[in-house]
Amino acid sequence: MAAIDLDTYVKGVLDGRRALVARAITLVESTRPGHRALAQELLTQLLPHSGRARRIGISGVPGVGKSTFIDAFGTLLTSLGHRVAVLAVDPSSTRTGGSILGDKTRMERLAVDPAAFVRPSPSAGTLGGVAKATRESMVVMEAAGYDVILVETVGVGQSETAVADMVDSFLLLTLARTGDQLQGIKKGVLELADVITVNKADGPHERDAKAAARELAGALRLMHGKDAFWTPPVLSCSARESTGLELVWERLEQHRALLDSAGRLTAKRRDQQVGWTWAMVRDELLGRLHADPAVREAAPDLERQVREGRLTATRAAERILETFEERTTPPAGA
Ligand code: GDP
Repeated sequence: MAAIDLDTYVKGVLDGRRALVARAITLVESTRPGHRALAQELLTQLLPHSGRARRIGISGVPGVGKSTFIDAFGTLLTSLGHRVAVLAVDPSSTRTGGSILGDKTRMERLAVDPAAFVRPSPSAGTLGGVAKATRESMVVMEAAGYDVILVETVGVGQSETAVADMVDSFLLLTLARTGDQLQGIKKGVLELADVITVNKADGPHERDAKAAARELAGALRLMHGKDAFWTPPVLSCSARESTGLELVWERLEQHRALLDSAGRLTAKRRDQQVGWTWAMVRDELLGRLHADPAVREAAPDLERQVREGRLTATRAAERILETFEERTTPPAGA
């Protein structure tokens, strides 16, 4: 493909031209040094045009109905006049092997909706790399005029926390279960959720789903206490039949409006920026540490000594850091 210059990218994105938006995201996702410099210049120019969208994270275990939900929910939103971008954070995915999330074939209506843009998860490898690419893609999407950004994530590992750290509101999809409703849901994820919906509330499952939603709502009221700033509402819906989705949107809007009116939205986004800054510093430092020749040379022997009980883990960690520091710190007086 022919190289595109910065101005063409900027204008193309601001004009919302799909092909250029897609190319801009590919550029932002690229880890090649030449691309990274251009990507940062592009993002700097787009930044003043971003930040106006509603950023919503969506999570739930595989099979809960995330892609069916996003297809139906996104279609509802475009029918209301919104422009919807779907991004995904799935560190396990590789573009060639087919990603679990954001796969266009999983969102049949949205994939052909001119007011929507579905992008599979970047395959940058580490969670830090994937999260960075997704955050930056969000800037591109917002500058291109998408006013609702849905960020989908698999319900595994730390990816939910990474997504919660880049959105305004976090929506958790869950299923009705008999017995202990809380058992199947990871506690940490409940703490991230701003709105919860029990999916597959249709046909013979409708009653169970509604009962489960009530039970969970009660548990959350206990968990949050009555003076809480926001107690996550628990709804029920059917992604397959597109029912209950308006209320999910209403509650998400309410949550965002409350954040906004309390001045918390701006504060939250600023805090997120600072958090990302340090996350990137950590990722970069760790990358350099692992790539450092002296560290690579010293590590196997230190690891062996730890395994054989001849060196404490603390001492080994100190040695590794000393080895790294000797190479990155200029000698005193230099
Ligand atoms: P994901 O893995 O979370 O993305 O889940 P999918 O969207 O791929 O859905 C998993 C399965 O559940 C598919 O067979 C869907 O057809 C089905 N499904 C999704 N939403 C609903 C729903 O609202 N009701 C019913 N009955 N089935 C659903």
